[in-house]
Amino acid sequence: MKVQKKSSRPSGAKKATDKTTPRARSQAITEKRGTPAYAAKAPDTPLAPFQIQRREVRPHDVQLEILYCGVCHSDIHMARNEWGQTIYPVVPGHEIVGRVTAAGNKVTKFRSGDLAGVGVMVESCRECVNCRKGLEQYCTVGMVGTYSARDRSTGEITQGGYSKQIVVHEDFMFRLSDKLPLAKVAPLLCAGITTYSPLRHWKVGKGHKLGVVGLGGLGHMAVKFGASFGAEVTLLSTSPEKEKDARRLGAHKFALTSDSAQLEKLAGYFDFIIDCVSAKHDYNLYLHLLATDGVMICVGIPPTPAEVAMFSLIGGRRSLAGSGIGGIPETQEMLDYCAKHGITSDIELIDIASVNDAYVRMLKSDVRYRFVIDMASLT
Ligand code: NAP
Ligand code: ZN
Ligand code: ZN
Repeated sequence: MKVQKKSSRPSGAKKATDKTTPRARSQAITEKRGTPAYAAKAPDTPLAPFQIQRREVRPHDVQLEILYCGVCHSDIHMARNEWGQTIYPVVPGHEIVGRVTAAGNKVTKFRSGDLAGVGVMVESCRECVNCRKGLEQYCTVGMVGTYSARDRSTGEITQGGYSKQIVVHEDFMFRLSDKLPLAKVAPLLCAGITTYSPLRHWKVGKGHKLGVVGLGGLGHMAVKFGASFGAEVTLLSTSPEKEKDARRLGAHKFALTSDSAQLEKLAGYFDFIIDCVSAKHDYNLYLHLLATDGVMICVGIPPTPAEVAMFSLIGGRRSLAGSGIGGIPETQEMLDYCAKHGITSDIELIDIASVNDAYVRMLKSDVRYRFVIDMASLT
């Protein structure tokens, strides 16, 4: 994809025909901005309107008007402090897409009017062994999350995409194709990269049998990528009514996990299983479906630790692995792959006022297959 040429004027500044003075123009991209948002103030309170301050636009920063933001199950875990790491008040949202409205004078990748996206991280140390390899998500110092994390430079708590605007260093922002429907691109920034990255790492493709556990936001992207990479994909689901959709999304087979006879037939069958489940469940059940040397990749993060019987691994030299989102270069690679192959998320577009209802539906596995907030509904 083409890298935008640097404009001769700061791309966020208004044109010379504007009536603003030069001083006002420079202030327009350096002042802190109040931004409407939706936040949870405690684990047991619903999300509600909230005002936040975004940092000033610094030389390498890009300011994005957020047009759409996906609703990830991690947003629920965090809003309810299920992982014990939430800093309140929290504005969730890390599947962010929108249009650039200002850029610092050293920004080279973006200029005003460009489409751009932000995912799960907004900074990392950039110097450690992992950052140098483009694995910023495994930064040994700790990556800075898009929300509920401490911004290393300002000391302020980061706030996410359920808001009108965000300011992020250009290195943690992604270029987006204008060929894809933007609302359906938003979930690629987390659900997309979280499934793309492990499938690429383990080189899942032609000749492999891939099981996907759970057809939610992550699971439906795993089905799409698995099929696109040439694997034979089987959806393992608790929801019989999702079979038709699973096949439409690219799955070749479907098994209802509550039916032991269906699972029995798949014992020792899979080369890889990707587990995208958000709630407590029995990992041993799925480990038994792996062939010898098979790998079960966990991307779902239920709040409670899992019990794994060592016999589930030892019988068949199986591996249990985990994977977290993806690094900055790989996320751009995934977005470019999706643009080339026309891959997007299947979404249900909602107003921000419906976000609490969306959480309730996701907890009942009633998601098809990602809720995306239309940020025009936030005033
Ligand atoms: P989601 O859209 O709510 O989907 C979860 C799906 O899991 C459900 O639709 C359901 O699918 C299945 N499920 C739910 N409860 C289950 C249970 N008790 N037993 C078996 N299956 C069950 O969630 P998501 O946004 O895809 O996120 C999934 C998980 O990944 C979350 O824990 C999230 O925090 C985590 N996550 C991790 C990373 C990472 O970097 N590793 C990144 C993003 C998200 P069926 O109806 O088909 O059974
Ligand atoms: Zn997420
Ligand atoms: Zn690092």
